[in-house]
Amino acid sequence: GHNNPPDYLKGLNPEQRQAVETTEGPVLVLAGAGTGKTRVLTTRIAHILSQGLAFPSQILAVTFTNKAAREMKQRVGILVGEAVEGMPWLGTFHSIGVKLLRRHAELAGLRSDFTILDTDDVIPLGAAPFAQMIDGWKNKGLGPDEIPEGDARAFANGRPADHAERLRLRRPVAAPDPHLRQHHDVLAEYHRKFKYILVDEYQDTNTAQYMWLRLLAQRPKQPSSPRSRGEDAGRQMRGGANVSEASSRPSPGPADHPLPVNGERERNLVNICCVGDDDQSIYGWRGAEVDNILRFEKDFPGATVIRLERNYRSTAHILGAAAHLIAHNEGRLGKTLFTDRPDPEDPKVNVHAAWDSDEEARAVGETIEAYQRDRHKLNDMAILVRASFQMRSFEDRFIEIGLNYRVIGGPRFYERQEIRDAMAFFRVVAQGADDLAFERIVNVPKRGLGDATIRQIHDTARALRRRTEAEAARRLREVAANFARWQSLLDTTPHTELAETILEESGYTDMWKNDRSADAPGRLENLKELIRSMEESESLRAFLEHVALVMDAEQNEGLDAVSIMTLHSAKGLEFETVFLPGWEEGLGTAAAYVGLTRAKKNLHLWFVSNRRIHGLWQSTIPSRFLDELPEAHVEVQEGGGSNYGGYVNPYGGAGRQNPYGASRFDSLGSPSGGFAGRGDQKGGAAGQERGQGGAFSNSYATPGWARAQQNRT
Ligand code: ATP
Ligand code: MG
Repeated sequence: GHNNPPDYLKGLNPEQRQAVETTEGPVLVLAGAGTGKTRVLTTRIAHILSQGLAFPSQILAVTFTNKAAREMKQRVGILVGEAVEGMPWLGTFHSIGVKLLRRHAELAGLRSDFTILDTDDVIPLGAAPFAQMIDGWKNKGLGPDEIPEGDARAFANGRPADHAERLRLRRPVAAPDPHLRQHHDVLAEYHRKFKYILVDEYQDTNTAQYMWLRLLAQRPKQPSSPRSRGEDAGRQMRGGANVSEASSRPSPGPADHPLPVNGERERNLVNICCVGDDDQSIYGWRGAEVDNILRFEKDFPGATVIRLERNYRSTAHILGAAAHLIAHNEGRLGKTLFTDRPDPEDPKVNVHAAWDSDEEARAVGETIEAYQRDRHKLNDMAILVRASFQMRSFEDRFIEIGLNYRVIGGPRFYERQEIRDAMAFFRVVAQGADDLAFERIVNVPKRGLGDATIRQIHDTARALRRRTEAEAARRLREVAANFARWQSLLDTTPHTELAETILEESGYTDMWKNDRSADAPGRLENLKELIRSMEESESLRAFLEHVALVMDAEQNEGLDAVSIMTLHSAKGLEFETVFLPGWEEGLGTAAAYVGLTRAKKNLHLWFVSNRRIHGLWQSTIPSRFLDELPEAHVEVQEGGGSNYGGYVNPYGGAGRQNPYGASRFDSLGSPSGGFAGRGDQKGGAAGQERGQGGAFSNSYATPGWARAQQNRT
């Protein structure tokens, strides 16, 4: 009742409560990080259930990750005060899509036990350019009939025999709509079924996912006359036409408002609630389109738009830094964030410099241990990296010092496919009789298939099948000769050089260079990182032993452990203490913003001044975001570089001196010593040398950095 709100509503602010209690009609919650969007969604489900508005099976709820889905189920359970028996339609777009498709496999011309192929499975066919094309169609939600003609021709000309089948298996996963929209009866069934639709991280839905949502959420128009009924409904359901219609004119008034198809539904409004933050959009990361946010009000006329502005997660310093970061973003929908809990005791955002990534890992490790000594739980700490290659130095270091960690949302560095492949090559060379390793790479890259066009692949595949044993033996001899040559270099060639040679000459590096899938560049980066990291070991054998040791380490399930993950998998999560390494040139605004806003209280940003590429040190350019962070919220930590003394007090505050002095930009372009010329003093007493120079002095002296500066001012 009104006078006595249920417990789950207590503690919500008025806007949050409105978002929870407006159960009828479309609702869009547009709000910054940490304002309680996910909490609103969870509470909304609890509210719907406890008010008896729907059964759990009538709620469709889309989350960003499976982890988020599990957590949401759990939290709803706690709010409702009982275990939520089966929320069968709570999951990611992917998992819900698969489930729908499985139920209606026959409509899509599939068997219900179809397997899902990921890009990984298709690529080895050598069809990389086609896989990329397919991804493009998939992201745009194009059905088989809507594929651009040029694409279709190219595809038809070079399509391998079983590729059509694979395509059919692949593309519906992200977008089952083409099948649904051709089957009105099935669609109507879902319209009746899903009384409430909820979507988290709405800004990241791509066009296909958006079309799919709209298909499930929008009721067909009332036909103008019985004769044209089927036609009209069909056109409406095909989606495309409706988008342009809706966007080319102002929101329809009541007159042309779509009417219900039958008495069962009273109006076109559907109970859909989407929550999102355009500033966290991964647009550009993966084909998501922030336009979907803008389209919402057009496609769902009469939507209630709610803004949440109070942040419950982070300190004023963290919010100040985050707000500043995105303030210059163009085309944002514009949101404010505030906290009413500014606390003078709150630590500022810490910025640290490190000489290279190994030193960065060492320094982060020390800082974590300092927190630990101060009774902070490892579970409350996370290291968020831009790309998976950055995990390597942390994993190595943490194993070395016995610090529990777990990698979330993906494999550990040495468990990645490309790393395992490379290691298999190295093992065969260094350890000879390693049958398992040999089996793994004897046909990697697919020998004879590498550079062929798709048609050639098809022909080659047929030819391969007919190949005589003598032919196979010849190929095997070829491979063996390669390995013999590499083995002969073992004692004479530096091991990192040898490792590079192996990956080049085997065609393995080229295999990924020719691969057009979205994750190929990341894999190449990982391989480079692998080679780089070998410099730490004395020999190939020593390196293999080192990796074996790291691989033996436990995943620390259920133990107190630091989390390591990419910024991408950190969406929606929060941690007391967050470390953001690798703040160098190339970091995107959205990723930086997501990173900053994961932290509740302690935030440490790091940048590395140097990278060793092919045995040579090269200066890197710190991310311009570091420079833009408002001084009032930032503390530049001395003791970056290799000066461990600087980590005694990782919390900033008293005793810290700000090397920027009155203006940290004064030192710009002045090569005041700092790291300069320290190449031979890595890890030694070098740290003491600097200090007066200022943490960034070396980087400021680099031409690139100075240029970047001048461009901005
Ligand atoms: P993100 O954009 O990062 O996904 P979000 O908007 O989804 O953030 P939530 O994760 O829902 O934010 O909430 C952030 C934190 O604030 C959580 O710890 C949540 O429990 C807390 N919180 C949200 N609303 C309230 C409230 N009304 N009172 C107290 N704490 C709240
Ligand atoms: Mg959230």
